[in-house]
Amino acid sequence: MTATDPEDTQPSSETAHLPQPPAHKGTISKSGIVLGPDGKPCRTCNSARDMTNLSRMLTSGKTKSSSPLAAALAPPPPDRSDCPPDVEQLGRSTWTLLHSITATYPETPTQSQKSDMQSFLSILGRVYPCWVCADDFTAWMKQPENSPKLDTREDFGRWMCNAHNEVNRKLGKQEFDCNLWKQRWKDGWKDGRCD
Ligand SMILES: Cc1cc2nc3c(=O)[nH]c(=O)nc-3n(C[C@H](O)[C@H](O)[C@H](O)COP(=O)(O)OP(=O)(O)OC[C@H]3O[C@@H](n4cnc5c(N)ncnc54)[C@H](O)[C@@H]3O)c2cc1C
Repeated sequence: MTATDPEDTQPSSETAHLPQPPAHKGTISKSGIVLGPDGKPCRTCNSARDMTNLSRMLTSGKTKSSSPLAAALAPPPPDRSDCPPDVEQLGRSTWTLLHSITATYPETPTQSQKSDMQSFLSILGRVYPCWVCADDFTAWMKQPENSPKLDTREDFGRWMCNAHNEVNRKLGKQEFDCNLWKQRWKDGWKDGRCD
């Protein structure tokens, strides 16, 4: 990440009317980049693509050229596979963990297992490293109709699928068919390619 223009990291007047989080979490800059509590772009709250575009804008005053010739002549992007995660990589890894937890959740949990899971989800909403994601997820969970369904593995797997679909909708992604949650995350596809 190159140095950012301090102007750009100020909360914008365009976003000022939106509910702003407590200062200890961060803010949203006028360019739409999510900032952390230190006022710097929050790596786990933005995509690597947005961060790179912001860097380019700040250093050259331009956005990335989209001409085919420029794209063909551009050097290949550096390998980022061992860099700290952006919001997308963090999200994919977290969904993998969360759906895998539902896949191994007891079929008929005890009261104590249900209570542990309720605590885990509440804590996740407080410590998830993308604070904008965490705030929305927590607000969604707090609506009575969306409270975690923990009575059986099937209930919990479907609830998690619905929670993930809520984020998919927010990001304009395709919804997942929750009838398939168990094949995707527990048993593997019926065609046998995961066996
Ligand atoms: C709690 C939480 C909140 C998030 N909030 C935000 C946010 O506010 N802004 C943001 O930019 N990113 C957010 N993310 C990250 C975002 O959801 C994606 O993980 C990220 O954009 C990468 O998306 P992807 O297309 O690679 O697939 P992902 O959405 O990460 O999905 C991974 C895989 O899960 C499967 N899948 C997809 N949908 C479902 C479903 N409903 N049920 C079961 N399996 C499914 C598919 O096979 C898919 O390939 C959040 C992540 C989490 C865990």
